Parts: sequence; C-alpha cells; structure tokens
Amino acid sequence: MTQTVPRAEATQPSPAAPAGGGPAPPRVRATWRALRGYIRPYRAPIALGGLLNLAAALLVLAQPLVAKALVDALGRDGPVTGIVLGLTGLVFLGMLVRAAGQYVLERAAESITRDARRQLAARLMRLRVAEMDRSRPGDLMSRVIADTTLLRQVTTQALVSAVIGGLTLVATVVLMAVLDAPLLGVCLAAVVLIGCCVTLIMPRIAHATRRVQESVGAAATVLERAFGAFRTIKAAGAEAREAAALDEAVDEAWHGGVRVAGLRSVASSATGFAVHVAFLAVLGVGGARVASGAVELSTLIAFLLLTFQLASPVGQLVEAAAQYQAGSAAVFRIQQAQGMDVEQPSPGRPGTRRCPATVEFRRVDFRYRAELPQVHRDLSFRAEGPGTTAFVGPSGAGKTTVFALIERFYEAVGGTVLVNGIDVLDWPLAGLRASIGYVEQDAPLLAGTLRDNLTCAAPDVTDDDIRDTLARVQLDALVDRLPDGLDASVGHRGNALSGGERQRVAIARALLRRPALLLLDEATSQLDAVNERVLRDVVADIARDTTVLVIAHRLSTVATADQIVVLEGGRVRRTGTHRELVEGDALYAELAATQLLAEPGARRPD
Ligand code: ADP
Ligand code: MG
Repeated sequence: MTQTVPRAEATQPSPAAPAGGGPAPPRVRATWRALRGYIRPYRAPIALGGLLNLAAALLVLAQPLVAKALVDALGRDGPVTGIVLGLTGLVFLGMLVRAAGQYVLERAAESITRDARRQLAARLMRLRVAEMDRSRPGDLMSRVIADTTLLRQVTTQALVSAVIGGLTLVATVVLMAVLDAPLLGVCLAAVVLIGCCVTLIMPRIAHATRRVQESVGAAATVLERAFGAFRTIKAAGAEAREAAALDEAVDEAWHGGVRVAGLRSVASSATGFAVHVAFLAVLGVGGARVASGAVELSTLIAFLLLTFQLASPVGQLVEAAAQYQAGSAAVFRIQQAQGMDVEQPSPGRPGTRRCPATVEFRRVDFRYRAELPQVHRDLSFRAEGPGTTAFVGPSGAGKTTVFALIERFYEAVGGTVLVNGIDVLDWPLAGLRASIGYVEQDAPLLAGTLRDNLTCAAPDVTDDDIRDTLARVQLDALVDRLPDGLDASVGHRGNALSGGERQRVAIARALLRRPALLLLDEATSQLDAVNERVLRDVVADIARDTTVLVIAHRLSTVATADQIVVLEGGRVRRTGTHRELVEGDALYAELAATQLLAEPGARRPD
C-alpha cells in the first residue's frame, strides 16, 4: 500500500468556510447516493416498517368497501350488527398495525441519525490542523448535531410515505376505475393540478431549509466564540454586543423557517383544496349519473369516500417530497464537512521509536498559507539527546511553529523535518506523536476531571503512575487538598486551576506518555517561584535520559541548556551554550540581560 502525502497544505478555502454567494445546490444523484449509504444498514427494519404501514393503509382502504356493504345491508335488512363489528375491528387492527410500523421506522430513523453523527464526528477529529484553523468550530458542531437530525425524516418516513403513498394512490385509482371510469377522469384532473403546483414549490423548500441550517451554524459560531472567551467578554463589558451578534443569525433562521412553513402550508392546502374540488365535481357529475340510473347510489358513496381518501396518499407524496428537499439540504452540508481535508496516517515502518530521540531540521521553508508571509526560511538545526536544546528569540520568530512541524500539525513547504533520522512525513502519524510529549504554551486543559486530563494522552497508566508523576511536578499536595482528588473538575479549559497548576498538569500529562522527545513551550507569563523551580528540576531530571526541546522565556531554563538555538525572523541566528552566546551574540545578550526573553526586540518576520 503506497500513499503519497501532499507536501503543501491545501490553499483553497475550505468547504465549510463562509462562501460568498453560497455554494452550488446539491446534485440529485449525489444526494441519493449519500442517502442510500445511510439507509443501507437499516434496510430490513425500514422494509418491515414500510410493510406494516402499507398494511395499515390497506386496512383503511378496505373501510369504504365495508361501508358500502353496510349501506347495501341497510337497504335490504341484512346483518347490520356483524358488519358494524367488523368495521370496528378493522379500525382497531389498523391502529395497532400503524403504531407498530411507526415505532419500527422511528427506531431506524434514530439509528441513522446516530450513525451519521458518529461518522461525521470521527471524520472531523481527523481534520488537519490547517483545515481546523480556517474553519468555524461552531458551524462544524451544528453540522454534527443539527443537520444530522434532518436525515431522520428523509431516510425513513419520507421513503416509506413515498412508496406507500404511491402504492395507495395506484390502488385507489384502480378501485375507482372498477367502480366507475368516467368519474375517475374527473378525479384525475384534480390530481394532475396538484402535481404541477408541488413541482414548483419543492426546490424552494430545499433552498430555504439550507438557509435555516446555515444560520443555525452561524448562531453556533457566535455562541462558541463568546463562551470560549467568557472572561474576556465580561471584562470588556461586551455581553450585550455578543448577544446582539446572535440576532442576525437567529433572524435569518426565523425567516428561513417561516418560508419553509409557508411553502409547506401552500403545498398541503393546495392538496386539500384540489381534493375538495374533485369531491364536488364527483358529487355533481356522479349525482347526475345516479339520477340517470348509470350508477347505483352505493357506488357513488363509495366513490366519494375514495375521493376523500385520495387526500391521504397525495398528501403523503407531497410531504415526502418536502422532507426529501429538507434532507437534501442537510446531506449537502454533511457531505461538505465529510469532504474536508483529513490527516492521512502515512504508512511507515513501525518500531522507529528510539529514546532519546534526535530532531533535525534540514533547510526547512514554511508558511501557514500561500497568502501569508513565510515563517521559516532555510531553517536548519540538529538536536540530540539526552539533553536540553533551548530555543530563544523574539516573539513571532517561529519558535512555536518549530514544534508544530515536529508534531506534523503542518507540513514543511520545502526542506525536511527528521525525527530519529526519518522524515516526519514517512512516520506513521500515530507512532510519531506517541513518541512525543508536548506541553503547549498556554497549557490548555480539557473540560473534565484531573484524571481525564492526565490519562487522555496515555489511557493505560495506573493510579500509581499518576501519583508518582504528580509528585514529580509537585501537584500531589494540590490533589490531596481537593475534596474529589483526581476526580475534581478542572473547569472549561482548566479555568478552575491557576496558570502554574495548569502548566504542571500539562507537564504531568506529557510525562505519563513516557516520551522519547519532550517539547516544552514555556509560558510567557511570569509564573511563581515554586513553579519555576519545579519546572527547572523536572526538565533537568527528564533530560538525563530523554531529548528535551524547550522554548525558553526564562534565564533559569537557558542557563542550564546543553545547546541554545537563537531564532530570528524564521532563521537560525546563532547556536551555542549560554556562555558562548552571551559573549558572542548581541541579540541573545540583550534577551538574556532583561531576563524576559519574549519582550525586547519583539518583531514579526518580514
Ligand atoms: P513564536 O512562537 O516564535 O512567538 P510562532 O511560531 O508562534 O512564533 O509564529 C510565527 C509566525 O507565524 C507569527 O507571525 C504568527 O503570527 C504566525 N502564525 C502562527 N500560527 C499561525 C497559524 N495557525 N496560522 C497563521 N499564522 C500563524
Ligand atoms: Mg510561541
């Protein structure tokens, strides 16, 4: 199995990105293919539900015939009680069969929604980081949660309605033809009228539904932004503004929803109206035919009942068409998200893990997107273990990006990034990341418990491992203090912990992975003295048998590093030890003198 890995990130706007003017409407055949895929695992229950519904419909259809027998019996003093009991039994049985059919179908519908959600969520988890960078998470969430609910109706109810409606319509028409052919002609004129009207309305329903779903996505985006930076919103006093930002999206959804409601009600009232017109016409023409003795009164009554019953299959067909339109709007949005660029688990030799790891950049060029300035140019360095390599440089020099390239969150545009002498693009992706422990700069934690946060990177560690590691980063006292211990909640993004605690949890998480390579992006904010000492001790300890790459903002970190790489404007400016650099490099001396390595001379790459 060979697979080519695309070198450069795709530069086209993502399908989920806001597209001016709206993308082209879904193609009917593509929609069908997608729907068939969702339906396939549930063919049996849907068929069963369909048959039960069909049986219920046939039982309803039999009622006018029994009614005709009743009228005939009344005229001839026949066995009325038996017929009445039979009719009642028929109605009751019809109800039972319909209920069973309904349940089987609803169950399949729920399963299809669940499957679609699972599939889409699993796919989105594999998105490339670059693709996530340019998408709107709120909109993606609404595709997983809201759009999938629209599949429910179209894959089961609408399908069955269409089949049953169609069959019932045919059966009704055949019965009518048997009863009296000329009267059937009168009826069919009305049915054709409905068909024309509905054909005009349906595409508009699809369009309006898509508008609703897009606005729901936009509303989710607004909320996600506000809830994701809640303290910022409060501090800025921007609550009302954020709430108002929702108005537009919510209004748009309202307009779309009202339009769908309007179109549906026009379609269904047109259906009802046409059936009434047909009824009156049949009554008029049929009355004349009864008077002239061409048909019997009981035949006319049966025919009139059948005419009224036409409303049901025709209504079913119209409703099924409307549901298909709504479903196709959802399928379009789901397929769009399914089509986003995901990471390929590149094939590679397993067992390339080696501890301590080596990292080498060979003439790496990198930019995040074609239209953005270059971040790395011709960047080369080599870091070996055991030991610490520190990266220093002004803000925006491309330090964090170095780590992102090692983790293969992005792929270099030119040059090669090697881990253990192997191009990261040739590593099996999971294997590469399993060798690395990565502590991000702002150490974001996942909402959930401390234990979740510690074990998410290493699911099979024992409680003893966790305790030992917590002791290493001196968090054991904190855990003992918390009433729920390891099961205490850390809040949204770890809000319930201090910055220093968050960072230490993130380090513990990375250590539990037993990494061959530790990437540590130091926090720029001044953390307390305890934190700084813990950090220094832990790093020194790990560096004894592991390769540690640290983006340093503190003198205490660089002073003990085995090698320091000074980055400026995406290039290596100088490499050496602290002592060598203080004497030999002006920028480094300046950074070191102020102790605040991030601030002075901060500049962006040109
Ligand atoms: P440092 O860590 O040295 O401060 P970074 O590596 O974070 O710098 O960023 C280098 C440059 O790349 C900066 O100009 C930054 O604005 C830009 N950049 C960082 N991340 C992204 C991203 N996800 N998309 C686009 N540009 C980015
Ligand atoms: Mg950074």
